[in-house]
Amino acid sequence: MKQKIFSVIKNTHKVFASRELPNHLGLYFHALEPQHYKAFSRAINHFTAQGYKTMSSSSYLAAPQTQKCLFISFDDNYKGWHSALPVLKQCDVTATFYVNSLPFRNEASDDVISDYFDRIDYHGERIPLSVEELKEISDNGHEIGCHSHSHFVLSSLSSDLWDTEIRCSKEILEKITGQDITSFSYPYGMRRHFSGELKTYCLQNGFTNVAAAIPGMLYKKPDSYTIHRTRWHLHNTIEENLTDLSIDGQLFERLTGKSAVG
Ligand SMILES: [Zn+2]
Repeated sequence: MKQKIFSVIKNTHKVFASRELPNHLGLYFHALEPQHYKAFSRAINHFTAQGYKTMSSSSYLAAPQTQKCLFISFDDNYKGWHSALPVLKQCDVTATFYVNSLPFRNEASDDVISDYFDRIDYHGERIPLSVEELKEISDNGHEIGCHSHSHFVLSSLSSDLWDTEIRCSKEILEKITGQDITSFSYPYGMRRHFSGELKTYCLQNGFTNVAAAIPGMLYKKPDSYTIHRTRWHLHNTIEENLTDLSIDGQLFERLTGKSAVG
């Protein structure tokens, strides 16, 4: 019943709150495996043909709203990202990878890795990156951001624990890449998984921007440190994804605490 009510509100919302795509488009993906390459390239080509250009988080936030900007990002930790580097190059994509620093495959035990993929509910190729592969992704000109150490719901942890989850992860990623890690995306991405206190902590501890994953927020008036992203489903058609992107879901999300996009 609850599901049905959500679906009615969602469909009504699609009719009344659908708008033209904004110039700044933040998208996020998770794994990128060979069976996704075609759909990924098609999506990127679609936006490139319309004048959108991919860029790092800081360039995206600094660009004027009149410029068509595409922020392509990936969350979690998958070996497949490294294998997909030639695809990204072919599509001329500069992406941001928000990485969990716990499950590197040359450092974490099989149990830790298995628990990690259970926690993020991923059942594709359950192989995380090695530290060398992450370094290579960074050396290829992509941005590495922090997605916390273990991928817990940060807002449910004590401040001591989230401090460790964020600070340690930043240090580990900086050591691997030799770069300052200044971008953060919080695990699970919805409003209830983060807090004002956590945001202030991030901005006071070396991060310049925080990425959310609350769909339907691409129309929100921008500030200089928040990147709103909508998920691009590689198994859906471009049209279905574009419908998701064009929903202004701010009201829906505030009323229901749920995403306006399926
Ligand atoms: Zn995640």
